[in-house]
Amino acid sequence: MRGFWISTIESVQAPLRIWSAIFSMFGLFNHLTMRNYENYALGSWIKGDGEGTTLFNAITAKEIGRASSKGLDFSEMMSYARKVGGTKLRKMTFQERGLMLKALALHLHSIKNKFYALSTQTGATKVDSWIDIEGGIGNIFANASLRKNFPDLPYHVDGDMAPLSKNGTFIGHHIMMPREGVALHINAFNFPIWGMLEKIAVNLMAGVPAIVKPATITCFLTEMMVREIVDSKILPEGSLQLICGSARGIIDNVETGDIVTFTGSASTGMMLKSNPRLIEKAVSFNMEADSLNCSVLGEDAIPGTAEFDLFIKEVQREMTVKAGQKCTAVRRIIVPEKVVEDVQIALGKRLSKTTIGDPSIDGVRMGSLAGNEQKIEVTEKVLQLAQSQEIVYGSLKEFEVTGADKNKGAFISPILFLNDDPFNKTDCHNVEAFGPVSTILPYKTIDEAIELARMGKGSLVCSIITNDMKIAEQFVLGAASMHGRILVLNEACSKESTGHGSPMPLLTHGGPGRAGGGEEMGGVRGIKHYLQRTAIQGHPTTISALTKQYQVGGAQNTEGPHVFRKHFEEIEIGDTVITDKHLVTLDNINEFAELSGDKFYAHMDENSLDGTIFTERVAHGYFIMSKAAGLFVDPAKGPVLLNYGIDECRFTKPVYPGMTIGVRFTAKEKISQEKREDDEFSKGIVKFLVDVYDDEGETVMLATILTMVRKLDQS
Ligand code: NAP
Repeated sequence: MRGFWISTIESVQAPLRIWSAIFSMFGLFNHLTMRNYENYALGSWIKGDGEGTTLFNAITAKEIGRASSKGLDFSEMMSYARKVGGTKLRKMTFQERGLMLKALALHLHSIKNKFYALSTQTGATKVDSWIDIEGGIGNIFANASLRKNFPDLPYHVDGDMAPLSKNGTFIGHHIMMPREGVALHINAFNFPIWGMLEKIAVNLMAGVPAIVKPATITCFLTEMMVREIVDSKILPEGSLQLICGSARGIIDNVETGDIVTFTGSASTGMMLKSNPRLIEKAVSFNMEADSLNCSVLGEDAIPGTAEFDLFIKEVQREMTVKAGQKCTAVRRIIVPEKVVEDVQIALGKRLSKTTIGDPSIDGVRMGSLAGNEQKIEVTEKVLQLAQSQEIVYGSLKEFEVTGADKNKGAFISPILFLNDDPFNKTDCHNVEAFGPVSTILPYKTIDEAIELARMGKGSLVCSIITNDMKIAEQFVLGAASMHGRILVLNEACSKESTGHGSPMPLLTHGGPGRAGGGEEMGGVRGIKHYLQRTAIQGHPTTISALTKQYQVGGAQNTEGPHVFRKHFEEIEIGDTVITDKHLVTLDNINEFAELSGDKFYAHMDENSLDGTIFTERVAHGYFIMSKAAGLFVDPAKGPVLLNYGIDECRFTKPVYPGMTIGVRFTAKEKISQEKREDDEFSKGIVKFLVDVYDDEGETVMLATILTMVRKLDQS
């Protein structure tokens, strides 16, 4: 067996190396006619000095151009980003930055077809390109929508107030300011568009500019998109720059406030992360590295079940989409030992239907790797894995390619291994072949499946396909600490499932250990990575002024007209209405019980109160809330359009018949709303604090209600 593989290594590697050498020579002859892909730096498109790196069409292996960053002044680019882009972005509110991203996403979506043809040259099929192009644009849309989760300010107010004193005159809170640095994104070659957009969507939303460094071999596609972004003039100048060639040395220029994100191989990541400048300037470095993800078949999902079929479909898709060059692709297929053969046969059958070839030809399901260098790398890894496990489907030499020359383009067949002793033959837990390569591993018990999943030493994602909730619970709780994301798939969610391999903009992407220990995306969580959290302390009036949110104990303004008489712009935080009082009676309780149908014993039966905290029949909390509305509402038609909800509501003290209640009704926070249609009227949301108090002035109920209020300015 070993001898066979050694001769295979030589027979596969030799022609690849020859082709590589030929392509390089070919490059020398053609460089005069080739396109030079440019860098976007300091507000201009700049061709790098010298010849730079030759770029190839992954399908035909023809040269398509060159990329060089020689002559760029990285330090100048970074300070330009901080001073020009950062200054403009930091002045914008979250709402303005969100609308800017929405405009960008709409623009890119309207011209999305432009990118597909060029994307084919990276070896991508239509589906692969869809993930890259439309998945990337979708990320911008998703981040734009997050503006609703932030205040109408350039900075964020984080969490709740912290009470720090007995009498409430000294409190604490947290604000989060955009970092005054630049986000430097160093990306992998596999998703030249998505890789950029999923990251810049987040830093731009936070108010931080970016410099993007795509992997050189596929930078031509990133360049095309950056040109469209720059031409659209939607982003403020200085908020996005691009380095198409090498970025060696760039980390030596980081300053406090910068953020570096890296996506790529663990070895490059570790080398960059160990740069002392990062430590000296306390710069955060987020690493997304290679990951030996797994998919687990539950013991219940035997052949014949819907879940077994789902598993086979999902694994085949994850092996072949983007020719397996996905950081989330399934590398290890963990199955009960009794069904190993069934899995092997079913997967082999599906893989055999994967037509490999030129993605522009109808019916082709899997394109090529990103280039011949990648083909050499994947081949070497396959041969390494083959030292300890057996190939049960696919071949490095014998496979068909449709519409292209198999020996020129970076094509490879899906390769399925079987490892019959996965606890002792451990290469599959250590070696990542970044292509359509995966290994079946048998397990005896669910504990063994968990152990095998954990042997990847930290992964971006794993999935378990089961319809048994006990198995799901045991697996997820056992495996979660070593995984960034876990998909539990069964028939009930399969139609709408986004799948094992798709990181979602609102969920965290990243994983512990080998996967780099980073975290990105994740909705609001991701945006916070680009903000500096600062604790602030002082009197509630001071903290109200800083947070633009009314803090209990802060000054209240009771002068002037009722707040319901004021338009959005006229309402100031702290404006307060002190209402009339109301005497709560037994009749109120009986009538409210009749009207609502809520006849809970504590409201209705005075003989049932033994062993409860109540001493008499207690008024319904919802009666107190309703009566409070009766007290604070100014009923005549005015700028207040509607009440659309309650954010939080607490009943803090029982109210008994004979007690009197009143309301302190205070403007707490204002959120301006954008117009969706031209004929819509201008309005905003005003949150009011409803503080209901008793005869002793003590709060019995505290709630925040949301009202929609018309603006004075309807232009
Ligand atoms: P790579 O060789 O590590 O390169 C990654 C990036 O680092 C490229 O842009 C590269 O630029 C740049 N780079 C290399 N040396 C540098 C230096 N000294 N200074 C600044 N930048 C430098 O990885 P790759 O081959 O592009 O990507 C494949 C790997 O990425 C796989 O292992 C895969 O698992 C991993 N990956 C992980 C994720 C994830 O989210 N976890 C996603 C995608 C891919 P040049 O191209 O100019 O060398």
